[in-house]
Amino acid sequence: MTKRLTTTAGAPVADNQNSLTAGPRGPVLMQDWQLLEKLAHQNRERIPERVVHAKGWGAFGTLTITGDISRHTRAAVLQPGAKTPMLARFSTVAGEMGAADHERDVRGFALKFYTSEGNWDLVGNNTPVFFIRDPLKFPDFIHTQKRHPRSNLRSATAAWDFWSLSPESLHQVTILMSDRGLPKDPTRMNGYGSHTYSLWNDAGERVWVKFHWKTQQGHAFFSNAEAEAIVGKTREGYQEALFGAIERGDFPRWTLQVQIMPEADAEKAAFNPFDLTKVWPHADYPPIEIGVMELNRNADNYFAEIEQAAFSPSNAVPGIGHSPDKMLQARVFSYADAHRYRLGTHYEALPVNAPKCPVHHYHKDGQMNFFGQQTGAGDAYYEPNSMGGATEDPSVGEPPLRISGDAARWNHRDGNDDYVQVRALHDKVMSDAERARLYANTAEAMQGVPAAIIERALGHYDKVAKAYGDGIRAALARLEAARAAAE
Ligand code: NDP
Repeated sequence: MTKRLTTTAGAPVADNQNSLTAGPRGPVLMQDWQLLEKLAHQNRERIPERVVHAKGWGAFGTLTITGDISRHTRAAVLQPGAKTPMLARFSTVAGEMGAADHERDVRGFALKFYTSEGNWDLVGNNTPVFFIRDPLKFPDFIHTQKRHPRSNLRSATAAWDFWSLSPESLHQVTILMSDRGLPKDPTRMNGYGSHTYSLWNDAGERVWVKFHWKTQQGHAFFSNAEAEAIVGKTREGYQEALFGAIERGDFPRWTLQVQIMPEADAEKAAFNPFDLTKVWPHADYPPIEIGVMELNRNADNYFAEIEQAAFSPSNAVPGIGHSPDKMLQARVFSYADAHRYRLGTHYEALPVNAPKCPVHHYHKDGQMNFFGQQTGAGDAYYEPNSMGGATEDPSVGEPPLRISGDAARWNHRDGNDDYVQVRALHDKVMSDAERARLYANTAEAMQGVPAAIIERALGHYDKVAKAYGDGIRAALARLEAARAAAE
C-alpha cells in the first residue's frame, strides 16, 4: 500500500499540489507551514563541497584477508580469513562537484573498513607518491590546482610555476602525465595507501608498511583526445561505469599487497622511507599478497552515503598505526577537521560513518547529537567516574615510537634526490610508446605557460634524463608547428 505523505514532524499532508492562498489568484498565506518547510529544506540541500576531492564515486563491499601477516599485526581486520564490510570512494582532486569525470588528474582512492575494533580508514590515491613532502606547502599547492582568484579560471601557469619551483613534485607529475593520469574508469586503476604506516603486534614490535591495491580488471586509460570526445557526450562516465558494473553484478576487485620494512631499516635506507614523494623499490621490499577487496553494493542514497562519507587517516585501529611521514601527520588533523566543518561535530555518528562495533565516549552535546549518551552508563558523563562508565584498555596501547632529534624547520629539500626514482620510472619502467605519450601529454599541459617557466621545468626534466627533456621539447615543437599550420 502507498505510504501516507507527512511533514518532517510526521503530520499527514492533505494536499501536496496547491499552496494555501487567499483565493485562486493568491496571495499565499504566511501560515502555509507545509510550503515553508519545503522551501526551507530546499535552501539547505547543499553542504560545503570538499575543497579537494569534491567529485566522487563510491560503493560498498568486502575486504577478505587471504594471506598471513599476523606475526606483524594484531589488527583484527588483517588476520587470516577476516572478512570486513567496507566503503570505497574514488574522486578527482581539483575539479568541483560538477566537474567532468574524464579529466587528467590524480584520483583519490579512499577506503573505510568497518572493523570489529573501530573504523580503519586508508585514504590514498591511485598513485604511490604525491607532489610535495612537507604539509606546510599543501594549501599553496592546492591553490595552484584550483581557480585563479581574478580570472576564476584554472591556471596552467600557476601549476607549472609551482611544480618547476618544487622539484619534489617531478615524480608525481610524471605519473600524472603518463597513461595513469587518465584512467578509463575507477575500476581500471590501482590504489595506494601512499604514505608509510606502521603495523604492530601483541609483543609490541613495529614494522613499517605500504599498502597497495592492484586492480583485477586490468589497467586501462584514455588519451587526452579520447577523453575530450567522451566529455563532449557525458561528464559522468565514472559514475556510469562504477554504478553500472555493480548494478549488473559485475563486481570489481582489487588484490591487497603490502610492503613491509623492519623498523630499524628506516634509519639505514638510502632514501627517506617516510618521504611521500618516494616509493619503496619492489626489489628491496617485495610486495606480499594478503587479500582481496570486492565492491558489490551501490549506495541507496548518493548524498547520505557517498557525499556524507567522511574518510580520515586519523581513523586507525589497534595493530595499525601512523609513521613519521609529515604529510600523513598533517592529514591526521586536516581530514577530520574538514569533516567537522563540512558535516558537523558529530559526523562520525552519521550512519555511513558510524562504526559497526560498540561506541563509548564522553563527548557531549553539540549540534545534531542524535545518539544520546554513549558513555556506557547513564550517570557517567565524565571520566574517571564510579558510575560504571566506559574505561580505557591499556592492552591496545601502541608501542612507543622511538624518535630523537632537534626541533627545527628542517629544509625538506636537503639530502633528498628528487630525480633518481623518476629516472627509474622513465628509463626502466616505461616503454617507448608510453614515453612518447608522456612527452605529448606534458607538452599539452604546458600550453599557454610563459616560456621562462617552461624552461625552468625542462631543466628538471633534463636532470632526470636528457631524453625526457628533449622528448618534451620535441613535443612542444610539434604543437607549435601544428598551431602555425592551422593559422
Ligand atoms: P619495479 O620495476 O619493481 O616496479 C615498477 C612498478 O611501476 C610496477 O610494478 C608498476 O607498479 C609501476 N608502473 C608500471 N607502469 C607505470 C606507469 N606508467 N606509471 C607509474 N607506475 C607504473 O621497480 P621499482 O619498485 O624499483 O620502481 C621503479 C619506479 O616505478 C619507481 O621509481 C616508481 O616511479 C615506479 N613505481 C614503483 C612502485 C613501487 O611501489 N615500488 C609503485 C608504482 C610505481 P604497480 O605494480 O603498482 O602497478
